[in-house]
Amino acid sequence: MPLTLHVDAQRWRLHTAGFLSRNPGVVPVIKGNGYGFGRHLLASEVSRVGLPALAAGTYDEVSGLRPDAAEADAEILVLTPWRPFLDVSLEPAWLVHTVSRLSDLRALSGSGVRAVIEVRTSMRRHGLLPAEIPQAAGLLTGIRFEGWSMHLPLAGDALGEATELAARTSLTAAEPGHRLWVSHLGAGEVDTLAQAAGSPVRLRSGTAMWLGDRGALAMRGTVLDSHPVLKGARAGYRLVKAPSDGTLLIIAGGTAHGVGLQAPTQVAGLRQSGAALVRGALAASGRSLSPFRVGGKRRWFYEPPHMQVSMVWLPDGVDVPEVGSDVELDVRFTTTTADRVVLE
Ligand SMILES: *Cc1c(COP(=O)(O)O)cnc(C)c1O
Repeated sequence: MPLTLHVDAQRWRLHTAGFLSRNPGVVPVIKGNGYGFGRHLLASEVSRVGLPALAAGTYDEVSGLRPDAAEADAEILVLTPWRPFLDVSLEPAWLVHTVSRLSDLRALSGSGVRAVIEVRTSMRRHGLLPAEIPQAAGLLTGIRFEGWSMHLPLAGDALGEATELAARTSLTAAEPGHRLWVSHLGAGEVDTLAQAAGSPVRLRSGTAMWLGDRGALAMRGTVLDSHPVLKGARAGYRLVKAPSDGTLLIIAGGTAHGVGLQAPTQVAGLRQSGAALVRGALAASGRSLSPFRVGGKRRWFYEPPHMQVSMVWLPDGVDVPEVGSDVELDVRFTTTTADRVVLE
């Protein structure tokens, strides 16, 4: 088998069902590589459980995610804010746009499109300034207003911030579409916010919903070849000398899958920055720890991963996995795209 994401379907669905029951009205987010599952698999999962709404990352991701047309309340929210230069169709009626600037709200005025208006949070990504909310509230007649949206940071007092911003949006409380769309709040926090704001709250969630039970998921690459190598013998694109006697494993999973392409991670705290320093020093010396786990340990890349396979070094003394067997990888699912996703 190539690089494969194995999903314990029963356990995974137990988690998502639990998440849905704790967060009724959640809007599942399906974006990017579909959190490792692929967007289509997640979309079919959403229709399997009969949820009418979902959120896509971009306009380009919406195609293929068409909701069940039979559902009268079907809708797809586009998370990337609308811009006049994006040159996208405002149809169909189940599309809910995100508007994050007054000028864009004016540009859409009269179109009658469904739209949420995003308010800037402390994260400062997109959104109107809170001081612009009253002006936006005066411009709602030309669109079909669907509520206010906030993208909350993972740090800090997200609930406190959401409650404060919600109070500033209360001037549209009488509008039929008035509600709050938020990210990154826990189930209890969503209820607290709804009560404090006196309006319905819709939680958008991807990571916690799809990847909340890592134990249900395993990424594995198949060993395609293994070659015993003596110390000093050369191998790889750069004909690098083997550091000792050992075995070269050629395993499915390379840069095409995102293997070895580490997304930058935030370094916080001394221990972590120490670890980052060590990684950086090792990288500078040309060595890099692979995500492939053999004999209970992550093993070194022999050289940087290739398009579809990696050359992994196994020193003598470690049991060599057979050609055809599978090796587990420690990867981030949002940056790794398997050849196959298998529900088991
Ligand atoms: C990605 C995204 C989400 C979902 O984030 P997760 O951390 O995956 O739950 C919610 N809202 C917006 C605007 C996003 O871009």
